[in-house]
Amino acid sequence: MKMVGTFAEVRDAAYGSVGFVPTMGYLHEGHVALMLEACRECDTVVASIFVNALQFGPGEDLATYPRDLDRDSQLAKRAGVDLLFVPDRDEVYPDDEIAAVELPDFAGRLEGERRPGHFQGVATVVELLLTGIDPDRAYFGLKDAQQLALVNWLVGARRLSTTIVPVSTRREPDGLALSSRNRYLKGESRVAASALSRGLFQAADAVEAGEADGPTLEGIVSAVVADAAGIELDYAALVTSDRFEPLEKLEAPAVLAVAANVSETHLIDNVAFFRGEDGIEVDRGVVLERPSVLEEN
Ligand code: AMP
Repeated sequence: MKMVGTFAEVRDAAYGSVGFVPTMGYLHEGHVALMLEACRECDTVVASIFVNALQFGPGEDLATYPRDLDRDSQLAKRAGVDLLFVPDRDEVYPDDEIAAVELPDFAGRLEGERRPGHFQGVATVVELLLTGIDPDRAYFGLKDAQQLALVNWLVGARRLSTTIVPVSTRREPDGLALSSRNRYLKGESRVAASALSRGLFQAADAVEAGEADGPTLEGIVSAVVADAAGIELDYAALVTSDRFEPLEKLEAPAVLAVAANVSETHLIDNVAFFRGEDGIEVDRGVVLERPSVLEEN
């Protein structure tokens, strides 16, 4: 694995079909799943580590966002990444005047409403990374379902030639979706956080038993989170996967998206519904057999 800092170095070193995995670092098995999928499908795998200041709001955790480049490079190398792209801010944003992409309405809902400016920052960096690297395929986690919807929209709206590949959510053995921000969760907070996936899995069980009413499914998640101590539900919303339109009745593809706050930490999670051979099927993600690297020490 080679570590590079410029788009030119990435393009020079890449050969054949190129798979790209953008991240903000502090890697875990969720990121690794994206990298492994890219390795399976592409000749050259590029992963980037760039903590994108533009997608953090004023009160958010930009300064304290976890960073560990040594560990990241070990994990990326073990996953089979060929090029680890670690650009500095000027490489990604050479110009202070960035032409902002005008976002669709759905980017203003749910996470967009809670985190003003967040999706503008995401769309800007994703467009700059995709145009700078020009990969054949780019891999994004279903964990960030609204981000995935926005990236799919962006690729269509800006006529980018990259195919977007979604990858299922990786979870701790108790169900908690892996996230670099889980590093902030200790003791009781860590226990409280598991209520999110518990609620989602109960709602998924209800769907498998025939429940299709949107408010009922949202209510199942809300009730589980309300029952748990130390966690405050932000929203539970059944929405379409592509435009995050609210759904009164489940149809596929859809996402049951939730967000909650545990102390200062904002957590999101979801289960996804898609149309399988026997009707609507649920993607709950993949539960790890052993605790992830995030749970070490
Ligand atoms: P981040 O470093 O948090 O910006 O995430 C980089 C990429 O990894 C995004 O496409 C995320 O959706 C994806 N990702 C983050 N957490 C998970 C997870 N638990 N399972 C699968 N993908 C994930």
